[in-house]
Amino acid sequence: MAESGAPATVYFDHAATSWPKPDAVLDAMRAAILDAGGNPGRGAHRLAVAASRTILEARGSVSKLLCVPEPRDLVFTAGCTEGLNLAIKGLLRPGDRVVVSSMEHNAVARPLNMLAAAGVIVDVVRADQYGRIDADVLERVVAQSRTRAVICQHASNVTGSIQPVGDLADIAHAAGALLIVDGAQGAGHMRVDIGALGADVYASSGHKGLLGPQGVGVLYLSPEIEPEELKQGGSGGNSEDPMQPRLRPDRYEAGTSNTPGIAGLGAAARYLAHNGTGIIRLERDLTARMYEGLLGIDGLRVLGPPPGEERAPVLSVVHERIECDRIAFELDRNYGIAVRAGLHCAPWAHESVGTLESGALRFGIGYGLTAEDVDFALAAMRAICG
Ligand code: PLP
Repeated sequence: MAESGAPATVYFDHAATSWPKPDAVLDAMRAAILDAGGNPGRGAHRLAVAASRTILEARGSVSKLLCVPEPRDLVFTAGCTEGLNLAIKGLLRPGDRVVVSSMEHNAVARPLNMLAAAGVIVDVVRADQYGRIDADVLERVVAQSRTRAVICQHASNVTGSIQPVGDLADIAHAAGALLIVDGAQGAGHMRVDIGALGADVYASSGHKGLLGPQGVGVLYLSPEIEPEELKQGGSGGNSEDPMQPRLRPDRYEAGTSNTPGIAGLGAAARYLAHNGTGIIRLERDLTARMYEGLLGIDGLRVLGPPPGEERAPVLSVVHERIECDRIAFELDRNYGIAVRAGLHCAPWAHESVGTLESGALRFGIGYGLTAEDVDFALAAMRAICG
C-alpha cells in the first residue's frame, strides 16, 4: 500500500511511456540543469560550453546504441510524432504516392490525411487478423504505380506485431522509393541496428523503450535524403545567413534544445548499452508469461501474433462482455495496476483487427516489472473477468 492508503502503482503502461526511469536519467537531468545550464551552441562561457558538450555526448551515446554510423544524422526531436511529421511533410510533395501499412498510429495517419487533402496519393496495405504486414502483399501494392515512400511501423502499439522492416527496406529501394519507419515501439524493446536496417528514416520516442524523459525523441535521416526542415530559426552559428543552415543536425534543430531532456536520454542510452540485452530478455519472458495467463481467462480475446511468435512487449485484450474502460478503472482503483484502455491513437490499427468499436485494454510491459507483477495482474484480471 502507498502512504495514502491507495494500492502502490504497478505500472503496465510502458507502451505509452516508460516509468520509472533509471536513476542515472534523473541524475543526468539534474546535472544538466545545475552544471550545464547555459544555452547549447550559443555563447563561449562555461555553462554554455557544458550544455553543448552534454548534447554532443548524448548524440554520441544514442547513435552508438542504435548503431547510427554518423551521429550528425541523428536529430533530436520533441518525440516520435515530431520526427515523423518532419520526415513525412519534409519529403512528400503533391502528386507523390506513398504506400503505408494499415497498422499506423495517428502520428503517421494524421499527417498523411492532411497531405492527402493537398494531393499526396496514399495507398494503404491491410494487415492480417494478427496485425502483421505481409511483405509480399506490400511489394505488389508498391509495384502497381510509381512510389515515393513506404511508411511502416517497427512494431504495433496495439497488437505488438513486429513488422518485417528489413524486407520492406529492400522492397522500397528496389522500387526507387524511400522507407520511413515509425520506431516508437521498437527502439529499446528490441535491438535496433539502424545502419544494417537500411531504412532512410527511423523515428522514435525517447520516453518509451529508450527510458528517457518525456519531450524528447530521435530521428535518423540517411545522408542521401534532405527533407525540408519543419521549423526555421536560430542555430547558434552563421547568424548573418538569412536562410536556415543546411548543416546537420543544426538544420533540423532550430531554437534552444531541450538540454535536460537530451541529457536524460543520453544517460538512458548509456544505461541501455550495459543493461539493454537483459531488459529485452526479461521483457520477452514477462510478455510470454502474461500472454499464457491471459489466454487462460474466459471471455478474453488476446490481440496480435499467435503464441510462439516473436512480438513486442504489448498485450492488448478485449472482453466479450465487459468494456475495456471498466476493466482499466477497476485495475487502477482496486489493485493500483496502470494500463491503458481505448483506441491508443491508432484507429487504423483497430479497424484492421476488428476492434474499432470496442477499443482494447493494453498491458505495456517494460523495465522495472517482475514475474510477480505479471502474476498479480493476471490474478486481478481473473477476479474482474471471472
Ligand atoms: N507511433 C507509435 C506506434 C506510438 O505508439 C506512439 C506513441 O504512443 C507514437 C508514434 C508517438 O510517439 P510520441 O509520444 O513520442 O510522439
